[in-house]
Amino acid sequence: MPTLFVEDACKSYASDGCTVKAADHISFSAAENESVAIVGPSGSGKSTLLNMMGLILKPDSGKICVNGKDVTGMGDTEKSSLRNQTFGYIVQDFALLDDETVYQNIRIPLLYNKRIKRSEHRRRIREAAESLGIADKLNRRALRLSGGERQRVAIARAIVCDQPVILADEPTGSLDAANKDKVMEILLRLCKKQNKILIIVTHDPSVAGQCDRVVEMRNGRIVT
Ligand code: ADP
Repeated sequence: MPTLFVEDACKSYASDGCTVKAADHISFSAAENESVAIVGPSGSGKSTLLNMMGLILKPDSGKICVNGKDVTGMGDTEKSSLRNQTFGYIVQDFALLDDETVYQNIRIPLLYNKRIKRSEHRRRIREAAESLGIADKLNRRALRLSGGERQRVAIARAIVCDQPVILADEPTGSLDAANKDKVMEILLRLCKKQNKILIIVTHDPSVAGQCDRVVEMRNGRIVT
């Protein structure tokens, strides 16, 4: 049963001679089958919290626990393996390889996952693409896709290894209303049907309103 737990985490940056507290004593938890929206103004620390949870950023102090295990002090190799097995990450600008096909883009996390056999790649990629309605685009280069299609590829890539936690930074940011609803439907369905944790950073109240819980951040702190 996946659980995520952040305890009293702090993260500061030095900027122009000042110290910015991007995370100021943050405690947060989420359990399987739960969708949580993280909202707040730009610069309030949403991405910092998401990146600490996703083991991309190490807090200066405090703890990050995944499935009950404190992983804060884990070495880089062990941490990247845990990251790959635990988190499907949808990044804000999608980070697609434009010259590669949709198939190759979705395949990227599989190449780093030692638990999934190569012989399973094709089936998994096809299933992920089908669930996002882009199975007919597998041979197309990413460069040739629309904004909505790129977003779907980014989501397919985040779910192809079937990790228990989906972390999404503005997953509907560049979508029109119809595509936004569709993407939310897919993410929430994955969360509920497959008992995943879904954490979404969003500026969009209609997206946040569809999640089980909304966490609001200001100045590096959780205010609700
Ligand atoms: P949000 O996601 O809510 O926009 P962030 O977590 O990206 O907020 O940033 C929180 C604060 O930390 C902001 O003031 C931002 O400028 C600062 N910050 C984030 N990353 C860095 C960095 N790498 N170097 C310096 N300051 C940073």
